[in-house]
Formats: sequence, structure tokens, C-alpha cells
Amino acid sequence: METRTEISSLGEFGLIKRINSGIKTALPDTIRGIGDDAAVIDTGEEYGLLSSDLLLEGVHFDLTFFPLKHLGYKAISVNVSDIAAMNGIPRQVTVNLALSNRFSLEAIDELYEGMKVACADFNVDLVGGDTSSSRSGLLISVSVFGKVNKDKITYRNTAKPNDLLCVTGDLGGAYLGLQLLEREKQVFLANPDMQPELEGKDYVIQRQLRPEARMDVVYELAEAGVLPTSMIDVSDGLASDLLHICAQSGVGAVVFEERIPIDEQTYLAASELNIGPITAAMNGGEDYELLFTVPQASYDLIKNNPKISFIGYITANKEEIMLHTKGDSRVPITAQGWS
Ligand code: ADP
Ligand code: MG
Repeated sequence: METRTEISSLGEFGLIKRINSGIKTALPDTIRGIGDDAAVIDTGEEYGLLSSDLLLEGVHFDLTFFPLKHLGYKAISVNVSDIAAMNGIPRQVTVNLALSNRFSLEAIDELYEGMKVACADFNVDLVGGDTSSSRSGLLISVSVFGKVNKDKITYRNTAKPNDLLCVTGDLGGAYLGLQLLEREKQVFLANPDMQPELEGKDYVIQRQLRPEARMDVVYELAEAGVLPTSMIDVSDGLASDLLHICAQSGVGAVVFEERIPIDEQTYLAASELNIGPITAAMNGGEDYELLFTVPQASYDLIKNNPKISFIGYITANKEEIMLHTKGDSRVPITAQGWS
């Protein structure tokens, strides 16, 4: 009898690992294939960077509360974020769309309006794509091409023991913004006369609907003369993305709970929703901040940058990736992708 294995038995990361194990690259200019935030291609003077992301209605967004203009912005921004994670500069994007007849021309204009704003913000050109009909909702897939100086590229697998662990901005907001939007949707469905209660929650909502790739920090690190030893963007939550750096670099880490940057509004939303703010930061995802490591000698060069938090350090013990809690105990950091 033929065996059938459920994909859920592997999880997202197990599935990608399995795909990767069956793929061998052969071309001399393919410098790095599956496994980092972007593929790396030798284009001569510089490295080219190539990455894609998929946004699917009902899985990644819910159009009952996701304005199309923001969705367009987010589709570009999350792709730019993967180029930022390689310490690169984004250049061109292509956009693939599948739409059902539920969408009007005006709706598509809105979507592209958002994409244009993002392209202007991040200084990228939209250069092509493909369009198809869809039987079930909206699908947006964006690919981005970027470039990076060969000696400035930052991979996930090059963190070193004693490096400082840094993160930009703050974490957990995007997840809590989503929880608030979901809650208001349920309230609205139950009673359409109810007004949404989202006053004073603009920051976390915006973190969910309109994430900003941290190209600003890529430029500021370069200006400060700091080259991270490793970098990843925080798309799946601090836990998951730190585990990628540690596993691929063969190192361990200690993260100090009290150092994890969390915005005031994130704390408020967390307490209102009865969700731990640290849990949101660790496992929430979609913050699109940069998680990176630097040698200790770089500390003085970036310590005054308010966008950067020093949350811990890298160790040689790859078996131990630990959260040092506010209560001075140490618990292992664990994570899952989607299942
Ligand atoms: P990110 O969150 O940075 O976008 P992902 O977790 O989506 O990264 O993907 C991790 C790695 O696996 C990337 O190098 C990506 O290119 C690769 N990857 C993901 N899905 C597939 C797939 N279906 N086929 C081949 N490679 C994939
Ligand atoms: Mg990434």
C-alpha cells in the first residue's frame, strides 16, 4: 500500500528542510540557495539577492479589516525586509496576482496605490509580474531583486560566540494588532451596529497592517561602520528567528527577558487581550524588525542608536538557547513555524 505522510507531521521548517535536501545547485554563480532570507547570485562586481513571499487571502490577511492599500504596501515591504536581512539594497520587484470577480477595478487600483507608495519609500522599481483569475480570493506573490557589496553581505550562519545580540524597533505589536482586529471583527459580526473599539491602538494596528522594512537601520549600520556578523528579519517571532541563526551558525544564545523591546501600546493590548507580551514578542511574528549579531567591539559605535536594543549574547554551547527571565531563572527558547 502507498504511504501517505501528513505535511503537518513535519511542520513548516521540516518541510523546507526536506525540499532543500532534494535540491542541488549546479551553477557557479549560485552562491547561496535555499536557507537564508534571500538567494545570493554572483553578478560580477556585486552579489545579487533574490527572494519571494506569498500573501494569501484567508491565510495571511482578512479583507474584512485589511485595507487594500495597506495590503499592497505590506506585500512590498515584507519582501524588502528579506533584502535588508542580507544587508542589501532592494532594486526591483515583480508582482503576481490571482483575483476572483469579487474584486473591482477600483479595488486593484487601491492595492497598486499601496505598492507604489512602498516602492517610492524603499526606492525600488516595479518591473513586471503575472495576472491570473482565482476561484477563491486574492493571492499576491512578490519577488524582489536586490544587491549587496560582496564583503558586506550578512548571512544567518555566521554568528560567533561572544557576539552581542541586537534587535531593531520593538516586538510583539504586529501580533497583538492582529488579535485586536480579529476581536473587533467578531464583535462586528455579532452586532453590526457596534463601533470598533480601536482608539489609542493605532500603533499596534499599524504594526500589523503596514509593517516597515528596516532599510533605515541597514543604512545607519553602514554609516556607523558596523558590519553585523549575522542577520535575519523577524517574520516568525524572536524565538523562531533566533533559533534559525543559532542552528545555522552552530552557536547558543542567552536573551534577557527584561531587554526585549516592547512598546507601551503593546503592553496595553497584551493586558487587555490577556496574552503575555513576551509570548507575543517571542512567538507572534510579523514585526519585520532585524535581529542581528555584532562583535563586542562594535558596541560603542551603535550603543546610542535608539532604534537598536542589545538583548543578549551568543555562546559557544549550541545546545543552550536560553531566555534569562526577569525572575533570574533560565528557560530554553523553543519555537514552531506554522503547522
Ligand atoms: P523568510 O521568512 O525569510 O521569507 P522562509 O521561512 O519563507 O524565509 O524560507 C526559508 C528558506 O526556505 C528561504 O531560503 C526560502 O527561499 C526557502 N523556501 C521556502 N519555501 C520554499 C519552497 N517551496 N521551495 C524552495 N525553497 C523554499
Ligand atoms: Mg526573512
